[in-house]
Amino acid sequence: TKSYQVDVMQQEEMASQGVIVTSLEFIYNWGRSNSLWPLSYATACCGIEMISSSCPQHDIARFGSEVFRASPRQADLMILAGTITKKMMPQVVTLWEQIAEPKYAIAMGNCVITGGIFKNSPSVVNNVPDYIPIDVFVPGCAPRPEALFYGIITLQHQIRRQKMLRRKDYVGKQAKRLKDGS
Ligand code: SF4
Repeated sequence: TKSYQVDVMQQEEMASQGVIVTSLEFIYNWGRSNSLWPLSYATACCGIEMISSSCPQHDIARFGSEVFRASPRQADLMILAGTITKKMMPQVVTLWEQIAEPKYAIAMGNCVITGGIFKNSPSVVNNVPDYIPIDVFVPGCAPRPEALFYGIITLQHQIRRQKMLRRKDYVGKQAKRLKDGS
């Protein structure tokens, strides 16, 4: 069979002639890592910091993530920013399920990561990562926009190392548990 592999010397020679050789996976990951579209969803005080990250002073557009979408069908990033109550959690999972793969989640703030200052409240979920597979954790109370940007850059690095196809089952299992009440 004919091999299509191009060695380094051939690549350098082709580059000198203005031809750049790369992989489909590299281009795919480069594209999606630089155009993460967050869902317009936030709660409590961390949500205010997330909103401020899109204002001109901080300018989230520098990272290609300024297009906050009102519909989960058009988003590929969920930034969980702020306290999530038990009453709200099923809706959060539904929103997450409505985002098409490949999709990513950032947990912004201590409330989402561990329950934060509401850890012992009977009405607050303190184990959100059990229901939504978090890619990057951004701790703080509240984390500033710069911290969120660090989280986005970390996620971009993760995406550039990923295979084109990834997880399928994790969320389904967790969401089923929630709906079954188990
Ligand atoms: Fe508010 Fe702090 Fe909780 Fe963020 S982590 S929602 S700032 S109490």
